[in-house]
Amino acid sequence: MPVLEIKNLHAKVAGTDKLILKGVDLVMEKGQIHAIMGKNGSGKSTLCQVIAGRETYEVTEGDIIFNGQSILEMSPEERAREGVFLAFQYPVEIPGVSTSYFLKAAVNSIRKHRGEPELDAVQFIKLVKEKQKMLGIQESFMNRAVNEGFSGGEKKRNEVFQLAVINPLLGLLDETDSGLDIDALKVVAEGINKLHEQDAERSWLVVTHYQRLLNYIVPDVVHVMIDGRIVKTGDKALALELEEKGYDWVERESLAGV
Ligand code: ADP
Ligand code: MG
Repeated sequence: MPVLEIKNLHAKVAGTDKLILKGVDLVMEKGQIHAIMGKNGSGKSTLCQVIAGRETYEVTEGDIIFNGQSILEMSPEERAREGVFLAFQYPVEIPGVSTSYFLKAAVNSIRKHRGEPELDAVQFIKLVKEKQKMLGIQESFMNRAVNEGFSGGEKKRNEVFQLAVINPLLGLLDETDSGLDIDALKVVAEGINKLHEQDAERSWLVVTHYQRLLNYIVPDVVHVMIDGRIVKTGDKALALELEEKGYDWVERESLAGV
């Protein structure tokens, strides 16, 4: 059973006529890493937001099947409890809320939903230490407010750490187009690779404007998005081809109905 199946998904900006997703089809098998590439404005971030359930957008047609069930009617919180986690675009600062408080609440709400016992303070710290060790992260992180006063690299490291602790079934990673410096990019990529090696059941959908992230995270499948649709799907060689030749040839192909 695929972890994610998107069928003819159409979505617009809620309360307007602005249609952004115009029939997205995508199937992800469990344990795979998929990349979505495409020019600015093609709808990549919107797709992530719609999967996560952001109410800014309204689905007008199609369906999103996650882990065997439609999630269209679920709130963002319910989707998160089911195992969908959106990271990386516009990391928010949450002043006064420590990372540890935020993470413990998140982990326990997922566990509760699954009918598993909640972690107490001692168990939670054990989990945190294990993940920190795996990712090579320093402990001082946990006592600081979520992302407050973090450098770009620290934010990324913290987000990867959050992903490791929350351990979602499907991680949606939306790389900001403003761009990460190469060190921050490596932090993200190494973290995801470790999580991927450690747990073959987890799936990752990585959205990126540039090919460079894919030098470090090797996707199983690469999709190209143009104007709210996935117009081409291939393997990692497609990413390299896009880096070399740009997007125009894919657009021409898709218009010609190849
Ligand atoms: P990408 O991530 O591929 O750069 P986006 O999904 O951010 O693309 O945006 C796709 C298109 O939809 C762009 O033209 C963008 O301006 C528009 N768009 C996205 N969100 C909104 C919104 N909330 N209100 C109006 N237009 C939006
Ligand atoms: Mg974007």
